[in-house]
Amino acid sequence: MKKIMIEMPVITECMVNTCSYNVGSNCHARAITVGDGVHPGCDTFLQGPRHTRNAQQSAGIGACKIMGCKHNDDLECMADSVKVGMIKNEANCMTFSAR
Ligand code: SF4
Ligand code: SF4
Repeated sequence: MKKIMIEMPVITECMVNTCSYNVGSNCHARAITVGDGVHPGCDTFLQGPRHTRNAQQSAGIGACKIMGCKHNDDLECMADSVKVGMIKNEANCMTFSAR
């Protein structure tokens, strides 16, 4: 596999323990995508009984489609770090802050 080095905001906590990428209240996807244009939901959320085996890997924000967030610049998240949690039964970026 070819590898790239890239800076991205780290996800320091995710409280969505029903997600397959979640182990120990942390996200272990390589990177997640946030948002559908309006709602800062986690697009990478996957509900299921199986959880990732790679609990060493830390996830970052690969892309964010929420231009109305003050941390968003050119459709990328520029926050230092991000937390994810459950709002109204949906996995959401808790670091979202309206412009
Ligand atoms: S940040 Fe998203 S993909 Fe990662 S564990 Fe939480 S809900 Fe799942
Ligand atoms: S903090 Fe804002 S820009 Fe960053 S992922 Fe969350 S909603 Fe997107």
